[in-house]
Amino acid sequence: MQTPPTAPPKRIVVKLSGEALGGAAGAGLDAEVLARTAAEAAAAAKTCQLALVVGGGNLIRGATLAATGIERVTGDHMGMLATIINALAFRDALARLDARAEVFSSHAIASVVEGYSVRRADAAMRSGAVVLLAGGTGNPLFTTDTAACLRAVELGADLVVKATKVDGVYSADPLTDPNAARFDSLRYMDVIARRLQVMDLTAIALAQEHDLPVVVCDIAAPGALTKVAAGAKVGTRIASDNAK
Ligand code: UDP
Repeated sequence: MQTPPTAPPKRIVVKLSGEALGGAAGAGLDAEVLARTAAEAAAAAKTCQLALVVGGGNLIRGATLAATGIERVTGDHMGMLATIINALAFRDALARLDARAEVFSSHAIASVVEGYSVRRADAAMRSGAVVLLAGGTGNPLFTTDTAACLRAVELGADLVVKATKVDGVYSADPLTDPNAARFDSLRYMDVIARRLQVMDLTAIALAQEHDLPVVVCDIAAPGALTKVAAGAKVGTRIASDNAK
């Protein structure tokens, strides 16, 4: 069944995974990927108000560090700091394009990054700047997927975009299963019941509770973000009223 056409969103929050900034290896920072993704964000911000919640998995994941003996909470604090590193790199890439960008972090670091507040982020989005939200939720044991849904609800966004390395949600891993089929649309409950690897459960539950649509798309596909910002159908859309 087709997803009904949707009005162009006025305000979107994009979850940009750290892995997507790490190039083919998914680790470290790839200058070319940073420049390309920043150009996509700058273009999309001309069509609608835009904030990006930046992940840190290309640098540090708390759960991975825990396996090496580092306290989970300490590792998560390190992971949240990694998201700030990525956001600073992304701001720099935007600045090189003469695009106005503001970084706000759940944890302020004097002389490095300003603290997040709804008022500050809202004002910056209204002014047309690309807003980069770092530091996740500010709490260990959460993810930046959850931070993206939380910030989207707080900031009254029409949509959360999960920008990944695949062009939507599949019934199985398309890299290993030739029968994997891509969904055009899904309901939140399908994602939860079928354990589809979209976002963690906390993030999906938050989106469902607040009726916040989620679009999953490939950030490396040229123009994907601009298309989403213009209200075009891209990737997989997850909402309460979608058909299976
Ligand atoms: N993190 C956290 N609380 C949050 C968001 C992130 O503790 O609200 C930590 C956690 O250790 C996580 C790391 O920061 O592994 C990087 O975030 P995430 O894994 O969501 O980044 P992504 O995989 O999307 O790049």
